[in-house]
Amino acid sequence: MTPDCLFCKIIEGEIPSKKVFEDDRVFAFEDIDPKAPTHVLIIPKKHIVGLKEADPNDAEILGYMQLAAAKLANERKLESGYRTVLNVGPDAGQSVFHIHLHLLGGRKLSWPPG
Ligand code: AMP
Ligand code: ZN
Repeated sequence: MTPDCLFCKIIEGEIPSKKVFEDDRVFAFEDIDPKAPTHVLIIPKKHIVGLKEADPNDAEILGYMQLAAAKLANERKLESGYRTVLNVGPDAGQSVFHIHLHLLGGRKLSWPPG
């Protein structure tokens, strides 16, 4: 656990969240400010700052996060269309520096994103 990391504290239960899934590698919870009917954040239990800070040792967990998103999307019957998003760096709007995969679905999603 990294001190002063909001998402590490959520994993530890120090800060409450609406958990939707957890296993030994990832934790998933409802976004506090949802941008779609489904807006879930999937985070690794290992503290990784962001995609540009990830290294080759993180390849498996990055793929595992995507598969966790697909599993949740399947459970929520979002197969007609959903999106997984990593915001990387301040210009992309990354505001929490513990990597998190957004799962968005349940409405028509426009392209390109803003
Ligand atoms: P990003 O802008 O990609 O860094 O995404 C951060 C996301 O975390 C935003 O969608 C926020 O709404 C969400 N968020 C921030 N604090 C919390 C929290 N305490 N519980 C759940 N989601 C949060
Ligand atoms: Zn963290």
